[in-house]
Amino acid sequence: MLKKMINPLVISVIALLPLMSACSSDSSKKEATTTAKEAAPAKVAVASDEFDYKLEPKQVSENVWCFFGALDMPTKENGGNMSNNCYIKTSDSWVLWDTGASYIYAKQAYAAMSKIADLPVKTILLSHEHDDHWLGNNYYKEIHGAKIVGPESINKNYHEGDITRMFRILTENQIRGTKIIPVDEWNAEPIKFKIGVTDFEYVPVGNGHSVSDYFLYMPNEKLILAGDLVMNGRVTSNRDGSVVGQIDALDKMDKLDWSTMIPGHGFIIDRKADDESIMYFSQLKELVEGAMEDDIDETGIVEAVPMLDFKDKKMYELLHALNVSRTYLEFDMGLPEHEVVH
Ligand SMILES: [Zn+2]
Repeated sequence: MLKKMINPLVISVIALLPLMSACSSDSSKKEATTTAKEAAPAKVAVASDEFDYKLEPKQVSENVWCFFGALDMPTKENGGNMSNNCYIKTSDSWVLWDTGASYIYAKQAYAAMSKIADLPVKTILLSHEHDDHWLGNNYYKEIHGAKIVGPESINKNYHEGDITRMFRILTENQIRGTKIIPVDEWNAEPIKFKIGVTDFEYVPVGNGHSVSDYFLYMPNEKLILAGDLVMNGRVTSNRDGSVVGQIDALDKMDKLDWSTMIPGHGFIIDRKADDESIMYFSQLKELVEGAMEDDIDETGIVEAVPMLDFKDKKMYELLHALNVSRTYLEFDMGLPEHEVVH
């Protein structure tokens, strides 16, 4: 299952794409990703004192629309809009998969989506604790009374007033109104549920990309919302991750019956969506283990495992060496205790 290879043409197409362009409707880029099935709605009016995220939802299946963020770290320029999150339409409400990086982001996302269907947001399902994925929560709690379901680790590791990455980086007109609020419910076991006629399976996989990851499977739509267990077009950040946990989670998702997969970061959403992640983690495991068998220690491991197939991916320079070091640690001493870095 982990032997899938990437079509080299796809790699080169993605590597050449400018930021976000794979989400455009330009037909010449259709090979790289499945694109929106209908035109984006009319532009949303944004308050003059707020950063304009210029959000455009992309329809990815009959009842699901997603917002795709930049393949970059959070910056003042992108306003923290560098991860993907989705709106799922049910008969009486929206169900959300992650909520983005700020209150203002969430407000603008809802304004864009309410042009598609004027429904309240009643349920939020979160992928993991990294703050680019859920700092929009308090908008939906305050305005819609939404129930927030997510990892318990958010309640343990994040508290009102904590200065997380987004609070440090974003400008006042981006972060204003954002508050850390707790999740209302968490599940240690997979849960299956129905809202209206829509079936959901919300599946915990333990320590994969982060200390506690979940994915969402929608069997009728053959759709997987993978969170950061899957990224494409960029190198992942394994700062809190487990290579063994990642490989198990990728294997579990890949075995399901799916045709569309939404990565936590990246624009490829068809059957090729998880190819890069599978290849990256299987190579990382194989090469680090091989180097350790050759008695290479932590001082030589980064140089020994350059994984040049990925050198043209976004954020390779920033993250790959750290990922290799962490993998060495995992196989040498076992995973360290989770260190919360806000
Ligand atoms: Zn993450």
